[in-house]
Amino acid sequence: MKSFHRCLTLPLLTGLATAALAKLNVVATTPDLGALARAIGGDQIELTTLAKPSEDPHFVDAKPSFIVKLNHADALIEGGAELEAGWLTPLLEGARNPKLDPGRPGRIAGAEGVALLEVPTALDRSQGDIHASGNPHYLTDPLNARIVAAHIARALAELDATSAGVYQGNLKKFDDALEARLAEWQKLAAPFAGRPVVTYHNYWIYFGRRFNWPMELFLEPKPGIPPTPAHLAAVITKMKAGNLKVVTVQPYQHRKTAETVASHTGALVLDWPSFPGGPGTEGYLEWMDHLVKSTVAGFEQTR
Ligand SMILES: [Zn+2]
Repeated sequence: MKSFHRCLTLPLLTGLATAALAKLNVVATTPDLGALARAIGGDQIELTTLAKPSEDPHFVDAKPSFIVKLNHADALIEGGAELEAGWLTPLLEGARNPKLDPGRPGRIAGAEGVALLEVPTALDRSQGDIHASGNPHYLTDPLNARIVAAHIARALAELDATSAGVYQGNLKKFDDALEARLAEWQKLAAPFAGRPVVTYHNYWIYFGRRFNWPMELFLEPKPGIPPTPAHLAAVITKMKAGNLKVVTVQPYQHRKTAETVASHTGALVLDWPSFPGGPGTEGYLEWMDHLVKSTVAGFEQTR
């Protein structure tokens, strides 16, 4: 009886284990990439996102548990353009996973295929610039999200050919939804074309360019360099002269600094979530929808 029982259950258990193993293990560095991976991978992937939505993607708290996740991963989706340069390299060295070596199908760099803005003609880190390879925050433009989503779909299909049709189907769904939303967002944005926005870090220029909201003034004197009194005084002068009425701040930035600037200029402080992942903004499209609508509301309030 005992041996009969064994014969019956072992193949079943083995079958279950194989089904679980068949899921691709995907690690995404930041929540925007994680949201795109989920949109494309659906239930076919096991997804781990390393950075929290409230964290600065340039300076993520690199936990030892991340090394284990990377060791077990079939694929790593990173932003690239040096976004994660400060924290991902030591984790990958610790993980010793050849599947994630550069050039392998499991190493997916979102920046590949995206036209980066602010690419310097000469490398210069003399002022602590953390955007030395160009501005790495390209996913704030929904059309760049579309490029990265297609890249992820191609890469997942290469790693898991049996689910290629599912990934292609999910990409089509994402593309169609994005196209419909984009038309709606552009309609909402159009009456405020040309309205400038002051941001804390140079994070949103792709978003600003897509919706025609110039973003040329930042509370940081240089990306990654904290605001100084002299720089803030210059920003305030420029805001008054140019009638700039909206300042934005992200979860890990000093809201008080933005409030001080706003109090001197009669501007409104808008809290912009850096990433999808908050209540009501779990997906990429929901996050973008929130950003566009809150900005439009901010412009309406400060006409
Ligand atoms: Zn940055």
